[in-house]
Amino acid sequence: MVVHWRESCFIVWNVPAEVITASIMDERRVNPIPRPAGWVHVVIGPMFSGKTETLIHLAEQHPPESRAVFKHASDTRYDPQRVVSHAGTVLDATAASDASTLVDLIPAGASFVAIDECQFFGIGLVVVVESLAERGIGVLIVGLDLDSWANAFPVMDALAERADEVTRRSAVCAGCGRVARFTQRVAPIVDGNMIGGSESFEPRCQACWTPPEQAVVEAPLRIDASYRTDLR
Ligand SMILES: [Zn+2]
Repeated sequence: MVVHWRESCFIVWNVPAEVITASIMDERRVNPIPRPAGWVHVVIGPMFSGKTETLIHLAEQHPPESRAVFKHASDTRYDPQRVVSHAGTVLDATAASDASTLVDLIPAGASFVAIDECQFFGIGLVVVVESLAERGIGVLIVGLDLDSWANAFPVMDALAERADEVTRRSAVCAGCGRVARFTQRVAPIVDGNMIGGSESFEPRCQACWTPPEQAVVEAPLRIDASYRTDLR
């Protein structure tokens, strides 16, 4: 059954649609504070949960001339100048080594900025993202929420708290097929290098996941000197 929205207003609230519309307009009149048009959408989840595929899908909704897509310079697993999903979809991207470099690389006129693997950027990214949203830019943040020891990445926690929208994605547990929200390290950690693909990681549910035997490799916490220092 198709219910027209005017009818649904009546069914749900027993209030004519005209009254609801008038009420919304009154609300706008009494609350005329201008709000910036920018927004922050955070997509989090374990590896192999389709986060980068989501980034590519959402970024392609914006014209190429008005979008800027970034990845971290240390993530050279698949292609240094493109984001590549585990499903094989790709999109041109600019590599940035830190948050302040990223700001300098945003072209004038960009109204949409997407950043992949944000956990690599460290906490300095929070101020940058706040600044972009205040300038009216829509910012899509994509990254791991938990490291291989199931510790939260501070930058992702802070960005999710700031976000207008948070999407939590899950994967399929490689051990039992249930819903997975953890990333299992399946190869030895050499020299603290935590960047890798399916040869080093797989998604696991809580029952199948175990932390690495090696000591925790700390998430990046460096704050660029030009940014606030009270976010640590
Ligand atoms: Zn499992």
